[in-house]
Amino acid sequence: MQEVKERKRNLNYIVPQEVILKGHFSLGSGKHTNIFFNKNLFYANPEMVCDVSLKIASKIRNTKAIEAVVGPGMGGAILSQWVAYYLRSTRVESVISIFAEKKDELWFLKKDFRKMINGKKVLVVDDIINTGRTVKGIVETVENAGGKVVMVFVVLDRRGRKSELAAPVGSLFMKTCGSWDSNNCFLCSVGIKFGN
Ligand SMILES: [Zn+2]
Repeated sequence: MQEVKERKRNLNYIVPQEVILKGHFSLGSGKHTNIFFNKNLFYANPEMVCDVSLKIASKIRNTKAIEAVVGPGMGGAILSQWVAYYLRSTRVESVISIFAEKKDELWFLKKDFRKMINGKKVLVVDDIINTGRTVKGIVETVENAGGKVVMVFVVLDRRGRKSELAAPVGSLFMKTCGSWDSNNCFLCSVGIKFGN
């Protein structure tokens, strides 16, 4: 695992400023914000995704407590694969990696995946927590399939405060982010241009 050790680098080096941007942005929800996580740039760089996943795996203290990693598709599914891979590299036992899908605004797991995580201790991973709604949906879906969520870990927690959802939540970055309706945006009101 020499390769793994060499890549335990500084987090700010792994995730450059171009990925977590500060400025004035319009989100998919229509709201405006001062912090933007450029997921497209993040997932287009496999080495960054691998290094971030290694960081997440290294933050899980009791890795033996994790038997499965679950992420929401698309991005969370990619993270799930790599985090499980690096958890696996620290021990003998295997860790499975699966992903949840969304239909009609509801998260679900395929039948095979439901069977695989029944009775297993699960780590839920995702790139961002905005309001926590996605993570809450994944936790409920896993528990409905008989899995036990022991921890949630994300790259960026936009809520900017330590608070737990259905399970303890860890994050590599925690930033208090402003979020405003477009017709009542503080950044618009003080004339800050869009972009960073
Ligand atoms: Zn604005």
